[in-house]
Amino acid sequence: MSATVLDGRAIAAEISAQVTRDVARFTAQRGPIKLCAVLVGADEAARLYAQKQRHTAVKVGVQYELLELPETITQSQLAVEVDRLNRDPAVTGIIMQLPLPPHIDPALAQYAIDPYKDVEGVNPANLGFIFYNVPIIAPCTALAVIELIGRSGLELRGAEAVVVGQSRIVGRPLSMFLTTRMATVTGCHIDTRDIAAHTRRADLVVVAVGHPALIGADHIRPGAVVIDVGINRVSTTAPDGTVTWKTVGDVDYAAVAPIAGAITPVPGGVGPVTVAMLLRNTVEAARKQRERDASS
Ligand code: NAD
Repeated sequence: MSATVLDGRAIAAEISAQVTRDVARFTAQRGPIKLCAVLVGADEAARLYAQKQRHTAVKVGVQYELLELPETITQSQLAVEVDRLNRDPAVTGIIMQLPLPPHIDPALAQYAIDPYKDVEGVNPANLGFIFYNVPIIAPCTALAVIELIGRSGLELRGAEAVVVGQSRIVGRPLSMFLTTRMATVTGCHIDTRDIAAHTRRADLVVVAVGHPALIGADHIRPGAVVIDVGINRVSTTAPDGTVTWKTVGDVDYAAVAPIAGAITPVPGGVGPVTVAMLLRNTVEAARKQRERDASS
């Protein structure tokens, strides 16, 4: 039997429709929601990405501003710029576009963002609150994975879950999310000796590494839920020498789909749901700021 395909685009469209209604209600009652993206030393690809981000935000009714800063900016000058946005009541959400130039520490740059305006959920304070299961704003990709698991019908309580990839922004917060939902969680990473020994006994395998076809049929127990976070560009060369590029995940989809119970495709799985979660977080951030301001 073939796996249920978890259609990220359809799920994202559903979430975005709800966000559009929430933004309209919030704007009518309490004023506009405004997202500001900080871009340091922009190249053309980064500007293009920001343009897409603007389109997505405006589509749900969120205002969007791109703050372009020079490549030569220092860490402390960047912190001053972020602080200005933190204090600006018109700005309700802040995104720090990555990658940053090598002389800027991304964790410190993200640390400068007000946790209530941190719509990506990457400030260490927001990551820390996951430990207490009371995040102000949680990381979008981890939220997206939880949403997709929910759609698969898997009961997390008591489930064996393996998260391959333990990054600060994706794998580790997700492992903590799963633990707080009472799954039994194993975290695999580059130094794990035998990944298949862990994944083969799992009800849920989430892969967030950035390595095409890392997970194949031998890694998956029949019926398991497989969530592929990875995004990789790979090329194939035809006999006539024509090179074609495509986007794939970390899971060998063709090999795993016939075995898994449910699976996310790449593209069209975790990616679109992550964007939808960013929009949902943007409304949530604005709402929580108003609550904080009202109580102070
Ligand atoms: P990262 O580079 O910060 O971390 C990678 C993790 O994978 C590390 O824990 C590392 O130990 C582990 N790892 C590396 N090689 C390994 C191997 N051979 N076997 C097992 N573990 C290995 O990456 P990240 O920022 O968490 O991103 C991971 C992937 O997810 C990338 O492909 C990225 O593009 C993608 N991503 C997708 C979304 C989305 O919305 N779909 C969001 C964020 C990241």
